[in-house]
Amino acid sequence: MATQKVGGEVDAQCTRCKMNLAHTILAMVGPKIVRVRCNTCGGDHAFRGAAGVTDRPTKASTTRAPRAASSSGGSTRAEKVVISFDEQLAGKDIASAPKYSPKDTYKVDQVLHHPTFGVGLVTAVRGDKVDLTFRTDTKTLVHGRGGPPTDKPVFSPPTNKHTGPADKPQAEPPPEADLAAETSLPSGD
Ligand SMILES: [Zn+2]
Repeated sequence: MATQKVGGEVDAQCTRCKMNLAHTILAMVGPKIVRVRCNTCGGDHAFRGAAGVTDRPTKASTTRAPRAASSSGGSTRAEKVVISFDEQLAGKDIASAPKYSPKDTYKVDQVLHHPTFGVGLVTAVRGDKVDLTFRTDTKTLVHGRGGPPTDKPVFSPPTNKHTGPADKPQAEPPPEADLAAETSLPSGD
């Protein structure tokens, strides 16, 4: 490697020309070139080494290539609906969409009419819950609550028997009770 000095020439990537060009060394820190002037455009800029040369191992350049965030997935809200709401509703019989009622049971792809959210499309059914896409929002609502009256699972708790008769010694009455009873006896003659 030829010794480089301020005022000398070096090949470097010009930030303006975006090319590998001859530059005049303007400043060095120890053996390292820190600032150069492009011989082509005359612009001063930090030395970047000869980047952009593909058939040569780059020397300490390209350390901060802007990372295009193109990695697949990962973002939580990536799976936004691609098709517009109207497109989703296309072909659906909105006119006869039933009114939403938690007592009815819905199935995927069904259109219904919610008093607050308007027309909605069922996108998923999970047990007694339905995911609905409305024009402005998605909601999870309950459904299928109108069936047999098994609202709550009948669930008989183990009935704790009241401590049965006499097989356990109950708490004895405090001894004073006896005494008191005795002393309070009317001792009349
Ligand atoms: Zn230049």
